[in-house]
Amino acid sequence: MNKRIGIIGGGAAGLYAACQLKRLSQSPIEVTVIEKNSEPGKKLTLTGHGRCNITNRKDISLLKEGYHEAEKFLYPALKEFGPDDTVSFFENEAGLKTKEEDNNRIFPVCDSAVKVRDALVSFISDSTKIICGAEVKNIKKTEGFEVATSKGDFIFDYLILSCGGSSFPKTGSTGDSYRFAKALGHDVIPVRGALAPIRADEASIGFCRNLSGVTVRAGVSLYCEGKKTAYKEGELLFAEFGLTGPAVMEISREVPEDIAGRDVYLELDLVPQMTDEAFDKELLRLIGGHGDTKISTLLSGFVPQSVAAEITTKAGSEGSYAQSFTKENRRSICREMKHLKIGLASAPDIKTAYVTRGGVPLKEVDRKTMESKIVKDLYITGEALDIDGISGGYNLQACMSEAYLAAKSILNQ
Ligand SMILES: Cc1cc2nc3c(=O)[nH]c(=O)nc-3n(C[C@H](O)[C@H](O)[C@H](O)COP(=O)(O)OP(=O)(O)OC[C@H]3O[C@@H](n4cnc5c(N)ncnc54)[C@H](O)[C@@H]3O)c2cc1C
Repeated sequence: MNKRIGIIGGGAAGLYAACQLKRLSQSPIEVTVIEKNSEPGKKLTLTGHGRCNITNRKDISLLKEGYHEAEKFLYPALKEFGPDDTVSFFENEAGLKTKEEDNNRIFPVCDSAVKVRDALVSFISDSTKIICGAEVKNIKKTEGFEVATSKGDFIFDYLILSCGGSSFPKTGSTGDSYRFAKALGHDVIPVRGALAPIRADEASIGFCRNLSGVTVRAGVSLYCEGKKTAYKEGELLFAEFGLTGPAVMEISREVPEDIAGRDVYLELDLVPQMTDEAFDKELLRLIGGHGDTKISTLLSGFVPQSVAAEITTKAGSEGSYAQSFTKENRRSICREMKHLKIGLASAPDIKTAYVTRGGVPLKEVDRKTMESKIVKDLYITGEALDIDGISGGYNLQACMSEAYLAAKSILNQ
């Protein structure tokens, strides 16, 4: 009898699993993807600002560090099917040319996430039945897996649970993976947002709003109750609501859930390439040589003009010229340039987070196959697992690598 394989969720992880099953199978199999939306891969079509950052071509020894606590768990998957394999799959099998951009990020040449989704769907069109508009309501393990959906009931011999996390729920990922995993006997680590924008509190919102749309390179430190708990350096973007951009989004996973009444804030270093002392020395040198220049003009050698103007105002030196600058004025400027405090209005909101932290504990899943250690023939991939990678193509690569291991293991049985 053909192996009947059910894939719950037609997102990135589910579509990748169907692709890997097609690539690797040498005997007849029946693959069915069950997707509750009217089309598969809704979130996938939004990725990379509509361009889809497919993967990241860093060496695996570096790449794995982008998965935080899941680094060790994911290593075998990345080793067996890594970024080079993903690129080769898209180029040589799915018919989609790719290109490499800064920081080893891989995008399709067409710059279209919709076309990435379409290429995957087209690749599996002759091997896989995709049933859309079918919401899985319940999964029961008997001889096989009994799957009850809004479009009827199904029985599968193997099941790949890939219905996502809880982030960006408007794309369909509303935490159902966790409900099904729990019902099947798994534990679930409480979920929260990762790679999320940060809303500034009342004291800081005006500063951010005035600079909305401006990007800077900065060091971003997270402080909780006076202790520095995380640091990231990279680009950040000021926004109407506060801060976003890679450095801020990557630090968001470390913001405690309950920040009400607690002293939790971000500290921005707008000149991360210099120590406080070196920056002060450089400022002193510039002041000495440009007495008739406005301070904000001198600062625009370090940050965009608009940021320099806001910083000067915040430091109480609006309109000041270098020649009148006192040591105290310089100290204020150094404080705002190197230790700019941005208060947080709330913990990151999972609704606007790009990925979910938490989910099915990795200790309950075999890292060499993605098979559940609790339920035989159940495989768990994608955001359903307690894995969140940094930005830059890491999260989709994790889905692809996991899909490979799951497909290989199912087909080897
Ligand atoms: C705006 C945005 C941009 C991103 N950009 C990138 C990027 O460029 N590169 C990158 O690597 N990562 C990116 N990510 C992260 C990446 O999209 C996710 O990590 C990835 O989509 C997770 O795949 P998944 O299949 O586990 O979940 P999803 O893609 O969320 O898919 C889960 C699917 O399951 C379906 N489903 C849920 N419940 C049920 C049910 N009960 N019955 C049937 N179907 C169900 C959902 O409708 C959904 O289609 C981005 C995320 C967001 C939100």
